[in-house]
Amino acid sequence: MAQIIDGKLISAQIKEELKLKTNKLINDKGITPGLALLLVGDNPASKSYVGSKEKSCAELGFKSIVERLPDDVNENTVLEFINKWNSDPTIHGILVQLPLPKHINESKVIQSISPKKDVDGFHPESFGRLVIGLPGFVPCTPAGIVELIKRYKIQTKGKHVVVVGRSNIVGKPIANLMYQKNQDANSIVTICHTAAPDLRYYTKQADILIAAVGVPQIIKADDVKDGVVVIDVGINRVEDSSIEKGYRIVGDVDFDSVKEKASSITPVPGGVGLMTVAMLMQNTYKSAAGEVL
Ligand code: NDP
Repeated sequence: MAQIIDGKLISAQIKEELKLKTNKLINDKGITPGLALLLVGDNPASKSYVGSKEKSCAELGFKSIVERLPDDVNENTVLEFINKWNSDPTIHGILVQLPLPKHINESKVIQSISPKKDVDGFHPESFGRLVIGLPGFVPCTPAGIVELIKRYKIQTKGKHVVVVGRSNIVGKPIANLMYQKNQDANSIVTICHTAAPDLRYYTKQADILIAAVGVPQIIKADDVKDGVVVIDVGINRVEDSSIEKGYRIVGDVDFDSVKEKASSITPVPGGVGLMTVAMLMQNTYKSAAGEVL
């Protein structure tokens, strides 16, 4: 039976540490970390993500601004808010909740955020820095994975990390982080996607398997080797009429069977998901403290 990698515990520890550091930053330097959040439309998941980010800011003593815009807002209005926050010295981080409606060019919006305030780490400059190993903002979910691996003292040097998924927000950045020549990584990395002819051929070789697929429980016990470390990024809704709300959340990994073979595993919920907001807060704190760029 695997060790459970507890994202709830670690994210709470990180927030507690940040609360103390924020207090000190305010008292010593008079700087209150400030995060601006922009939400377009009324997608329930996006609303809930923005709500939890706003709540975390309040818990840690950050200033937060939330701009909620209607679904039919034009692109220029969105860009105007970003430009305003780019030059506002009380704002240290800018986050645009994705996805945006189809008529708004997401890439243009992301690139309009100053790289100095890119706490989501999605700007091409942030990604370029990550790839060549320069200091910069690391996207929150991949940063959370690295933090879990580090705090659970999981060996990464020379280990074979197999990442399933190549999205810009999870798969590509975590793969790039894991082969960096530093003490938190130094792994051998394979990236899989829908063109993999036989996914199991690759996943069975993993010492550390990172699943960021978006397909409920696609990874089964037969897909992994004994002793694997499993990081499950997936957050998928599956229908469940036995629950009042009619659905439950599962990961990309069949937790019940895989935990019998794995040495360590993240649960869903309670694993990587909770780390994302904690790392957003960390990025915002670091930006305010001048620790990134
Ligand atoms: P995307 O849909 O952007 O990417 C999914 C990736 O998985 C793609 O690269 C796709 O390949 C690959 N893929 C899909 N099906 C298969 C398959 N059958 N075999 C092999 N590869 C496959 O998803 P995201 O990266 O945004 O998210 C992945 C999951 O993580 C989702 O469940 C999401 O909800 C969750 N998530 C959780 C976060 C958190 O914990 N805070 C944050 C972000 C995401 P291809 O490129 O060929 O299409």
